[in-house]
Amino acid sequence: MAQENIYTDPATKSMEELVALCKRRGFVFPASEIYGGINGFWDYGPLGTALKNNIRDWWWRQMVECPPIGPDGEPVEIVGLDSSIIQNPKTWEASGHVGGFSDPMVDCTETKKRYRQDHIEVLIVDDKGCWGFPENNIDYIAKKLKKANVSRDDGTVKNLTDIDTSEYEKIIAPDTDKPGTLTAPREFNLMFDSHAGAIKSDENKVYLRPETAQGIFLNYKNIVDTMRVKMPFGIAQVGKSFRNEVTPRNFIFRSREFEQMEMEWFCAPAESAKWYDFWKHERMRWWESLGVDKANLRFRDHDDDELAHYSKMCVDVEYKYPFTAPGYGELEGVAHRGCFDLTQHQEHSKTKMEYFDQAAQLAAKEAGKSKEEIAAASKYIPNVIEPASGLTRAVLVLLCEAYTPDPDRPAGVYMKFKPKFAPIKAAIFPLVNKDGMPEIATKLYHELRQKYVVQYDAKQSIGKRYARMDEAGTPFCFTIDGDTLNDNAVTVRDRDSGQALAERLPLDQVDAFLAAKIAE
Ligand code: ATP
Repeated sequence: MAQENIYTDPATKSMEELVALCKRRGFVFPASEIYGGINGFWDYGPLGTALKNNIRDWWWRQMVECPPIGPDGEPVEIVGLDSSIIQNPKTWEASGHVGGFSDPMVDCTETKKRYRQDHIEVLIVDDKGCWGFPENNIDYIAKKLKKANVSRDDGTVKNLTDIDTSEYEKIIAPDTDKPGTLTAPREFNLMFDSHAGAIKSDENKVYLRPETAQGIFLNYKNIVDTMRVKMPFGIAQVGKSFRNEVTPRNFIFRSREFEQMEMEWFCAPAESAKWYDFWKHERMRWWESLGVDKANLRFRDHDDDELAHYSKMCVDVEYKYPFTAPGYGELEGVAHRGCFDLTQHQEHSKTKMEYFDQAAQLAAKEAGKSKEEIAAASKYIPNVIEPASGLTRAVLVLLCEAYTPDPDRPAGVYMKFKPKFAPIKAAIFPLVNKDGMPEIATKLYHELRQKYVVQYDAKQSIGKRYARMDEAGTPFCFTIDGDTLNDNAVTVRDRDSGQALAERLPLDQVDAFLAAKIAE
């Protein structure tokens, strides 16, 4: 049992090996690899694309097609959207991204490296100076401090944002051994820009969206006017976002091009606290439904001083990534955005964003409320609760979570995806390529492929075929052997135990068996 923990605790999983497996098995490739790659960009290979689509489809299913049951026992209402990546640039002035979407950066004059100020932690040791290191990077800290003969327990740790810039001369930057090489922080806008049209002038300047959320706010009125939605309701969208991150790192965790799954929940201001709480817990439940171990997930409420300019309350859902363990890193943010965005777009576009809430008006009248109270309840700019998650970050979480070293297997590792998310649901093997076995196997394959992503494999030894499927994370292998000709049944090799199930499975029950496993 002690071994179980070694294999499920992310702290013991090697990112290097995971990245190598992702490349080897076609989950994720570095973008433009033949040209030496391009920092912060990744390509999703055949298995990675399938995994990503499976997560996206589950999110869409649970958000738009079959959204959760609300606090009143009725299903909540959420509609879908697919808005343009490039919008009128005024959008980003109104949202605050042109003026404010920047991270304070510090440069190291010695190594020319650039860091986000809030990503550096500093260990202050009385007689040995101040040692800076990238936040959460345990290996790095250990190596650097060992070299300097300093122990983490010798001093106190502070984030660089909490240290006065006049003190920077004492700090030894992460990648050098000399003190005083960090510059004062400078703002750096994260939006990629381009030009729409033939002329590259300031009037033609456009931005690639840094979040999908604004496309939703721009269409809020269209949806109220066309879809017969009633408050409260949500609009959901999945799509690419772009941020010119200064320090893309940790594989696909922080990329410059990534995918988001965002939902804006519009509600009456008086009800916003209730909905914030509802979505916070719903989102955690959803992450658990992906098969992520509860022990590796947690909430982290934002302190008042770290709230974004638009946000009244915010909580992150965090995951214990191998590179943050024993600490956690962000996976999703659930933010109470108040009426900030719609008010901003109302001001900048001169389009009214107020909602007339007939039901609330009636309820206020029936409750004998004052005239002012009735007016406030019946006309308002809605508040917004936003669960915003990264789809590509979810792919990373499932890759980390699934990666299970097992020295007893030929591959030395298997990917323990829940069947629902596994890129390949089952493999079909004729034990040998003769004696009537390929014919039965091919027939089964042709039946199953109508409904599921399955693979037929007749090449090499059965052990090698299992090893390939272990690395791809295929939960079941059905083998047609000599006995099949007599009993019309197959052996089922179960990925997680690495063993054949005790009972042979009749050919006509394979479909139902698979359907039940995928539905779990
Ligand atoms: P951070 O503080 O780490 O830069 P953020 O708080 O700015 O992230 P949000 O703007 O809340 O992130 O974006 C919502 C979600 O989008 C994040 O929880 C994350 O899953 C995903 N995300 C944001 N930036 C990136 C990125 N550069 N690469 C991959 N996913 C990202």
